[in-house]
Amino acid sequence: QAKTNGRNQFVLYHDGMNNNGRHLFQLETALRKAFDLGEFALYYQPQVDMKTKQIRAVEALIRWNHHEKGVISPGQFIPLAEESGLITPISDWIIMQACEDLKQLQWQFPYVKMSINISPIYFQQIDFLEKLQKTIESVNVNPRSLELELTESAIMPHADQSVGRLTTLKTMGISIAIDDFGTGFSSLSYLHRFPIDVLKIDQSFIKQLSQYQEDLAIVKAIIMMAHSLQIQVVAEGVETEKQYQILEEQRCDFVQGYYVSNPLTIGELYEFLDMWNHFRADQCI
Ligand code: C2E
Ligand code: MG
Ligand code: MG
Ligand code: MG
Repeated sequence: QAKTNGRNQFVLYHDGMNNNGRHLFQLETALRKAFDLGEFALYYQPQVDMKTKQIRAVEALIRWNHHEKGVISPGQFIPLAEESGLITPISDWIIMQACEDLKQLQWQFPYVKMSINISPIYFQQIDFLEKLQKTIESVNVNPRSLELELTESAIMPHADQSVGRLTTLKTMGISIAIDDFGTGFSSLSYLHRFPIDVLKIDQSFIKQLSQYQEDLAIVKAIIMMAHSLQIQVVAEGVETEKQYQILEEQRCDFVQGYYVSNPLTIGELYEFLDMWNHFRADQCI
């Protein structure tokens, strides 16, 4: 029995239910079926460049439109997809879909990049680079318009191998973002070893930015050190004007969050980008 979790989303489990074999099997079956039914969809959340006020990128965020349960968020099924191995076909699909949508989008909005979340498991698979290259070629999308989001947990365990892979991605023209920065065992000192373009400060540091001096201190430090390493910074989960202003004062490069826009369907994204170009000049953003 599904229940809502207060954000119009359904959870698949009751709290305390564990991922024993049977549940995992049932979920794997459900995920497979969802895949066959075409129930997965990508939503796109815009990122604003604070200097130019342009939309510099959109982040692809997957949703599962369950035929009975409604919208299921990735936090509820990505871990299960990772456990069951289904993360591979799902990730293949995500990358293909995001590249195709980007290709279309760029006829009208050539300056917009596409940022894609990559599961650590998928990143470490042997044929990851080869498949990515093939998709880019078959869709004929510009790799310079692609950004991949990886967490520290994706690159840290096999640091040497990761440096190699990231370097290849850079050679292909793809940019690299570190997602949820600050939540892992991050030390900025290891960062210079990896060819990183962008750090995404985790939303937990942004949430109470205007109340807590500690959060402000952390955000300041991340921005300062990132900039000294020629790395640009995205603040995630920006919801208020106050947060936006603080980040502007701190010379944060880009912001993403409900203050700018929710994640949008591809159709809504076109409307949003049109509107943004018409009105942003008059707005305070
Ligand atoms: P993430 O990559 O850190 O994505 C940011 C999450 O914050 C998204 O949740 C987004 O909807 C949410 N968010 C955006 N703005 C705000 C805001 O102003 N306030 C708050 N409170 N939240 C905001 P979502 O879409 O539920 O995704 C959760 C996580 O699932 C993502 O975290 C990412 O790690 C993973 N994920 C999402 N899509 C994909 C995907 O296509 N592939 C993979 N491998 N993972 C994905
Ligand atoms: Mg992300
Ligand atoms: Mg994040
Ligand atoms: Mg996150």
